[in-house]
Amino acid sequence: MHTLFIADLHLDAARPQITRLFEDFLASDEARSADAVYILGDLVEAWIGDDDDAELPARIAAATQALSDAGVPVYFMVGNRDFLLGEKFAQRAGFSLLEDGTVHPLYGRPTLLMHGDVLCTDDVAYQAVRKQVRTPQWQAQILAMPLEARRAFAAQARADSKAHTGSTMETIMDVNADAVAEAMRKAGVTRLIHGHTHRPAVHRIEVDGVPAERIVLGDWYEHGSVLRVTPDDVELRGLALS
Ligand code: MN
Repeated sequence: MHTLFIADLHLDAARPQITRLFEDFLASDEARSADAVYILGDLVEAWIGDDDDAELPARIAAATQALSDAGVPVYFMVGNRDFLLGEKFAQRAGFSLLEDGTVHPLYGRPTLLMHGDVLCTDDVAYQAVRKQVRTPQWQAQILAMPLEARRAFAAQARADSKAHTGSTMETIMDVNADAVAEAMRKAGVTRLIHGHTHRPAVHRIEVDGVPAERIVLGDWYEHGSVLRVTPDDVELRGLALS
């Protein structure tokens, strides 16, 4: 019995070896025998809408649909790169969309699932942008643009994000401990799994004096990263490029 978690793959046509690693991972015995596979956001470097006719979304949909067809439930939560991904693509890809902050009872242990960006409350500039781009009005306005214009817009947004990341202190871009405690307290859990920060680790913490753990998924820039959760254990490990 095992459940798998991945996040922050940042799939991009410019890095085809990572897309292949993702496809191989979903087709592996480990994924095909899993109780479920969770993708906790930033699956792609940029998502411009479910109507994108590029090759990458088609490959993603084929890979997740095949896993779902094999009887493995696939769950997807958007991140800050793919928050425009919606129900239309979810249906095509055979996965279920999860709200950020969903609690799932993993083998009897309620576990809070997040992308992780909302926990980075010290990054005030980022949180302000996030608030703006998550409004239905902003999203409707973007999605009304022609695909080519959206591609150009996404490229600009990535450049802006890179500039912000490059000029912001590392500690500011990590999660805020109080935000973590508050989220876990509100959800009533002692385990949190999230991505976003690209700092893979299993942190033993305390929330209101109770032992708890915060598990951070790794990114897929240099290699893959996967969390395997069983009824008794968690294992976070890298996936080598083949
Ligand atoms: Mn992210």
